[in-house]
Amino acid sequence: MSTPSLLILPGDGIGPEVMAEVRRIIDWFGAKRGLPFDVSEDLVGGAAYDAHGTPLTDDTMALAQDADAVLLGAVGGPKYDVLDFSVKPERGLLRLRKEMDLFANLRPAQCFDALADFSSLKRDVVAGLDIMIVRELTSGVYFGEPRGIFEDGNERVGINTQRYTESEIERVARSAFDLAMKRDRKLCSMEKANVMESGVLWREVVTRVGAEYPDVELSHMYADAGAMQLTRWPKQFDVIVTDNLFGDLLSDLAAMLTGSLGMLPSASLGAPMSNGRPKALYEPVHGSAPDIAGQGKANPIACILSFAMALRYSFDQGAEASRLEAAVEHVLAEGHRTADLLGEEGRAPLSTSAMGDAILAALDASV
Ligand code: NAD
Repeated sequence: MSTPSLLILPGDGIGPEVMAEVRRIIDWFGAKRGLPFDVSEDLVGGAAYDAHGTPLTDDTMALAQDADAVLLGAVGGPKYDVLDFSVKPERGLLRLRKEMDLFANLRPAQCFDALADFSSLKRDVVAGLDIMIVRELTSGVYFGEPRGIFEDGNERVGINTQRYTESEIERVARSAFDLAMKRDRKLCSMEKANVMESGVLWREVVTRVGAEYPDVELSHMYADAGAMQLTRWPKQFDVIVTDNLFGDLLSDLAAMLTGSLGMLPSASLGAPMSNGRPKALYEPVHGSAPDIAGQGKANPIACILSFAMALRYSFDQGAEASRLEAAVEHVLAEGHRTADLLGEEGRAPLSTSAMGDAILAALDASV
């Protein structure tokens, strides 16, 4: 098989700083695990605007379409706030998501034992938590027509439309079942079938797709009850699949069960390419953090864990993904902390590159 290709788009602010650590880890897997990647790097966001007057060139878009996976740092910054909406850094990211048709957004909520006290919930509720929310990303109420603010008699009315076709539900359900097969084989689908017709159809289609995955235990829950269960006892879940709106809320809720923004990876997946791999964009949940950019303070773990997701979901290297996650867990258990993970503690934080060093040392010790 040919060497898998990886397009790296560091972007703006802390993006290049955290991505530099990921590149060292990618090199480690090539040198120590016989897992080479054909890595190319390009500009996105403000960095692309500075160089080319657009946040994403057609050439970079074409590279992204051809790559086996894309890994992005972050985009944006105060310098670009004055730009016209059409060339703002975020437009580069939106174009990638739209043209790659990334309809399944994967947001893991994973709580490393060493950080369980960072959560607003009790330690025993979150310690060891490892769940995945799959949010439909390209349809539903954020896109449905009609939409707008209209005159209605002597007042105005605001309208948005929740709309899902069977094929839109089917493809995101399939992504979620495929993921569940790579995890603990439990999938919970959340909607509001009790009050919404789109929810009735959602439940029907997910159940139909489920018949193709007899090894996955499928359950259904109303999304409001799901929110309660997520805060009551989140460990009952493995994979959750839900629509765009509910997924927006539930994935933020689940992510914050685990503490710091500097720890949260994500993935957005599209349809399978001719080689069977899904179109895929991996990125940390955090932004470009202009308040700490250029100071070596950023936590690189969210971006490193995004690469671990790429290993698992694009490259079928689940064991190597677990190796990387275990290295992160080990480093945290040993007490290594970047500034964002220290809270009020008085001790000196690790720099971005020192955290990278510690994770590489843990990887070395793992072989
Ligand atoms: P942010 O995520 O950049 O920062 C929020 C806070 O968290 C800041 O105090 C920051 O220092 C801290 N933080 C974030 N990531 C961290 C890390 N890895 N290590 C340590 N601390 C970290 O959100 P914001 O301040 O609202 O936005 C800043 C810029 O980023 C804006 O231009 C925004 O549009 C953009 N943004 C981009 C993305 C993206 O690229 N996907 C996402 C969100 C925001």
